[in-house]
Amino acid sequence: MIIDLEFNNMREITESYPSFYEENPEVLEYKCPNEIIEIGAIKLSRTMKELARFKVYVKPSIYKVLNPKICEMTGIKEEDLKEGVSFKEALEGLAGFVEEDSIICSWAKDDIAELIRNADYHNCSSMDWLKEYIDLQEYCTKVLAEKKSISLKNALNRLRVKVFEQELHDALNDAVYTAEVFRRIYNDRAVKSFIIKDIINMPSIMIRDYKDFTLEESKTELKCPKCGYEIDLEYPLKLFKWRFIGLGNCERCNSKILQKVVVKQTLAGDKVYINNNRLLNDKEYIELVDRFNHNKLID
Ligand SMILES: [Zn+2]
Repeated sequence: MIIDLEFNNMREITESYPSFYEENPEVLEYKCPNEIIEIGAIKLSRTMKELARFKVYVKPSIYKVLNPKICEMTGIKEEDLKEGVSFKEALEGLAGFVEEDSIICSWAKDDIAELIRNADYHNCSSMDWLKEYIDLQEYCTKVLAEKKSISLKNALNRLRVKVFEQELHDALNDAVYTAEVFRRIYNDRAVKSFIIKDIINMPSIMIRDYKDFTLEESKTELKCPKCGYEIDLEYPLKLFKWRFIGLGNCERCNSKILQKVVVKQTLAGDKVYINNNRLLNDKEYIELVDRFNHNKLID
C-alpha cells in the first residue's frame, strides 16, 4: 500500500503576509511545523494490480491560515479543508484501509515521519498497522542506478510515464503516480531486501538542529580500536556542524584516536548514538588538534 501526504506549513509565509509572525508569534513555538491536510493512498495486490484508493482532506487545527504557497503548489483550497475530517478520523480511516499483511510504502521516509509526528501531536497513539515498510525512493534510486535520491518527477520522466504536471502534489495522484513507478521497476526478489521490519525504531532521522541538544556522555563510550582499553579524551567531544568530534590517546598502547559521534533519531523519537573511531598517526593527530582548536571541519 502506497501512502502520500500533503502538508500545510508556514515556510516563507512572510512573503505573502509580511507581518505574519508579529501577529502570530506563537506559531514559532509550534511542535508540529508540517500539518497534514490531505492523505492519499492506493492499495496494490502482490501482482501490482490496483485494489482500492483512499483520499481524505484533514480539517486543520494547528494553523488557521493556508499558506498561499501551499495552496498554489497543491491546488488545495480553504473550502476543500473546511469539508475535511479531523486528523483523528483521517488516521482511523487510513488504519481501516490498511490490510493485516500490508507493506506500507512511500516516496521517501519524510511522509512517514510526519505522519508519526502529527499522530503524536494529536495524541493518536495507535500506529500499529505500520509494520513492514519500503522507501520507494530509495528502491527506485538503486534500481535506476542514480547517485543522488531521485525525485518522483524525474523517476516518472525516466520511466516514460505520462505525467500531467498539474496533477502532481495531490496526495492521491502522487500515490497513484508512485504506484506507476513501482509497477515498472518492481521485482519480487530485489524488493525483499528493501523491506524494513521495524521502521519506527530505525534511526532514520538526522538531527539538524542541535540548539536544544545535550550530549549524554554515557552513550558515547570510547574504547581503543587497537587494544580495547577505555579512553579519556584529551579533547572532549565538540559539535562540528552535524556531528561531534573528539581526540584522545590510549594510555595502554599509546595509540592516537579520532572519535566521531553522530546522533540520529528514530521515528518513535528516541535518540541513537552512532560512535565511530579510527587510529591516527602522530602527524595526523597534531594536524587534527589544530583543526579542532580552530573549529575547522574534520573528516
Ligand atoms: Zn590502546
